[in-house]
Amino acid sequence: MRHDKAKDHTIRKQNRISGRTVPLDLPPDEFRSAGHRLIDDIARLLSGIRVRPVTTAKSPRQIRALLTSPGIPKIGTSARRLLQDTTRMLLADSLFNGHPKFWGYVTSSPAPIGILGDLLAAGINQNVGAFALSPIATEIEAQTVRWIAELIGFRTDCGGILVSGGNTANFVCFLAARKAKATWDIRKQGLTGTGKQLRVYCSDETHTWIQKATDMYGLGTDAIAYVPTDQYQRIDVRALENQLKNDRKQGYLPFLLVGNAGTVGTGAIDPLRELAVIARKNNLWYHIDGAYGGFAAVLPDAHDDMKAMSEADSVAVDPHKWLYAPLEAGCALVRDPKVLQETFSYHPAYYRFDDNKEEAPINFHEFGPQNSRGFRALKVWLALKQVGRSGYERMIADDIALAHQLYEEIQKYPDLQALTCGLSITTFRYAAPNMRDGSSRSEEYLNKLNTELLARLQAGGKAYPSNALVQGKFALRVCIVNFRTTLDDVLALPPMVIALGKKIEKEWRLSGQRMSSPRNSGRSIKVPERR
Ligand SMILES: *Cc1c(COP(=O)(O)O)cnc(C)c1O
Repeated sequence: MRHDKAKDHTIRKQNRISGRTVPLDLPPDEFRSAGHRLIDDIARLLSGIRVRPVTTAKSPRQIRALLTSPGIPKIGTSARRLLQDTTRMLLADSLFNGHPKFWGYVTSSPAPIGILGDLLAAGINQNVGAFALSPIATEIEAQTVRWIAELIGFRTDCGGILVSGGNTANFVCFLAARKAKATWDIRKQGLTGTGKQLRVYCSDETHTWIQKATDMYGLGTDAIAYVPTDQYQRIDVRALENQLKNDRKQGYLPFLLVGNAGTVGTGAIDPLRELAVIARKNNLWYHIDGAYGGFAAVLPDAHDDMKAMSEADSVAVDPHKWLYAPLEAGCALVRDPKVLQETFSYHPAYYRFDDNKEEAPINFHEFGPQNSRGFRALKVWLALKQVGRSGYERMIADDIALAHQLYEEIQKYPDLQALTCGLSITTFRYAAPNMRDGSSRSEEYLNKLNTELLARLQAGGKAYPSNALVQGKFALRVCIVNFRTTLDDVLALPPMVIALGKKIEKEWRLSGQRMSSPRNSGRSIKVPERR
């Protein structure tokens, strides 16, 4: 020990610094001019976004080739030039979810004020793990959490935290459920504390986060009891009750029921009020996954089940979806703030509450998995202040209205088959009337045809839907979480789809392919995993 110290001392002596040049720092003038230029370039992107392709659909190999130097550069480059070159490269080959015809997965156009908010947050560089390190930022995050709860009709005195996205928000709530419902000290003893096996209940339309959660936190995916759904993709309540009864007989420990406030595939809303009753009766933690649809609860005429958020023990929502925050921002809300703290804190919970002179500060590291944390809340808070509740009501209502207008429009085209319409998601497929006999031969053909059609549509760069599986049917899925989308944008889609469908069928006929072996028969029908 003493020997090492001495050595350390000699080294420092030899490398003594007098005056310092810092390669990474930028002189104020350079920072200013590079920054102004960058803002100009982003402004140009936003103003011209409608006329550029959604994406260029190059292969990973082509994209990798654009990054010329394979190893780390030995010496540096001027910041200004570097930023210009990099901006040019990113503008050329990104996928622009801010494009008015981007409707894939659930990724929103980024709110311009959020773009600036992220820049500001990086400039101030707060560590929102502890109040002492981020005084105003901590209170802004706490206010953002309260506003989000208020927006969706959850209790505003809940616990809550901003995280990286919907998956993480669901994980945080999952861990709170596990802590609250395990009958032993699960944080200390892990899953070995009892002979009983924890079990979770959700519909078979539930997002893949539930698999990751059961896997990552040691329960294993066998702990999921997937309950079948009805013809509207909602959980079958009778089947759920039977499953619960059987599982108890088998000696399982049911602890968590998940309801969907908008499934990721088709925007289906589970019977959230009925689920609340079942959860209470069975002593289950009731969690609502509102990552996609939760914010639709802001609408005065929202579905009655969307107004049942306050029945839940926890809710996950995703500001980088329907609050249009730039990535990343998810939010976990837990009805009882003490439970959230007891799930993550390694200080006694009373630290926060026993100071009766002054309220103790919020230290967000005690309410989630992260220690050091960025200032995600700022971009969300700024957008909420910029447009208020009424602004979000209007944008979300418009997104939903556009999805419904598209659904109606599709029904005017004999070659298109409308499948579902829930919240702002419409699914349909290209299917000539004589192909709709429901035979497995026809269905296989239509699945291949629509898979190919979607791949070409996405690669074409004119519009970007994604896919859903609707009762075995490969569907084109348009999910509008996009304040730039107009009625003309959605009305342009059906003719585009029909033209492509006809073109593909013609090619397949010309190349003499039989139905069972179209051009791409080397590939089996592989349905891309949903996100
Ligand atoms: C998107 C989504 C998720 C996952 O959210 P990420 O932000 O992508 O991590 C979970 N559940 C539902 C219903 C979703 O739509």
